[in-house]
Amino acid sequence: MSIQLELEPFVFEGVSKERPLVLAGPCSAESEEQVMETARQLKERGISLFRAGIWKPRTRPNTFEGVGKDGLHWLKKVKEELGMLTATEVANVNHVFECLKFGVDILWIGARTSANPFAVQEIADALNGVDIPVMVKNPVNPDVELWIGAFERLNQAGIKKLAAIHRGFSTYGKTFYRNDPHWQIPIELKRRIPNLPMITDPSHICGNRDMLFEVSQEAMDLYFEGLIIETHCNPDKALSDASQQITPESLKKLLSSLVLRKANVDNTVISHTLEDLRQQIDTFDDKLLEVLGKRMKVADKIGAYKKENDITILQSSRWDQLLTKRIMDGEKKGLSEDFVVKVFRAIHQESINHQTKIMNE
Ligand code: PEP
Ligand code: MN
Repeated sequence: MSIQLELEPFVFEGVSKERPLVLAGPCSAESEEQVMETARQLKERGISLFRAGIWKPRTRPNTFEGVGKDGLHWLKKVKEELGMLTATEVANVNHVFECLKFGVDILWIGARTSANPFAVQEIADALNGVDIPVMVKNPVNPDVELWIGAFERLNQAGIKKLAAIHRGFSTYGKTFYRNDPHWQIPIELKRRIPNLPMITDPSHICGNRDMLFEVSQEAMDLYFEGLIIETHCNPDKALSDASQQITPESLKKLLSSLVLRKANVDNTVISHTLEDLRQQIDTFDDKLLEVLGKRMKVADKIGAYKKENDITILQSSRWDQLLTKRIMDGEKKGLSEDFVVKVFRAIHQESINHQTKIMNE
């Protein structure tokens, strides 16, 4: 079911309405020179929305925690001298008041803050009656309801220019990404609130420069509206997130390499072919459900049999063998190990649920 928020278009005077909407600038404002130089180089390359963190939520203490209020003078200068619009992160009422005092144009709520309903409510209350655009990063944990809740809190406080930032989700242990994109979560958010613009943050998803283009392209192929990309005049010397920041020139190259595909096609041949392929997919999905249903009926029988014979539900060695074999079979069919493991974990869990139900009957 879709959620009705009272939204206004996330567009800005003097900023191109063409996809993607781009915000760029350093992870952190570090000095007046670094802010002005980065902003100038971005402006020269057609970027109008400048981001910079003023208060930085760092995982560990005794690292660079942002320049604080001083940086707001520099953002004001970016706005006045270069005519760019400025954006920064707010995490509490004091940040909100300082930003409003200095005329910051767009605020965002960071991933750690959006995971905390008390903090989001406090920010929403501080913004009550203020007409300012707010972007909400996905919470660090993969919880779409929590993300939706943040938009509802802000909207109830009268904020109508809202956008979502997809920056990926924390996982335990080392993975390929700094923050797993879990694309199905921003997709679900868009399904639930269709008119909410989605801005992907490839910098925090990747944690390095190598994959920025692929992630940005994927966001464009999902028809997301924008990109926010950390950009620094001297990335290697950045005081935070150095490994993921790029120069304004690299940003320009990245943006001009993106392929922007259409969401809909007028060409009847293309649309018929697509329709045909989608029907094939639907048929396979129907079959998948039918097979899964049959599989669970067998699980029910096994459950009943184990109950009769007083055997535990889980025999881990069997599960281990099954998974190893499936990974190998999947590989032969062009399916990634990660996908096969996820699918069979879900199937196995459902099977256990069925058997548990039978055991307890
Ligand atoms: C940032 O944008 O610099 C930032 C701190 O992001 P996140 O809240 O996504 O970690
Ligand atoms: Mn950062």
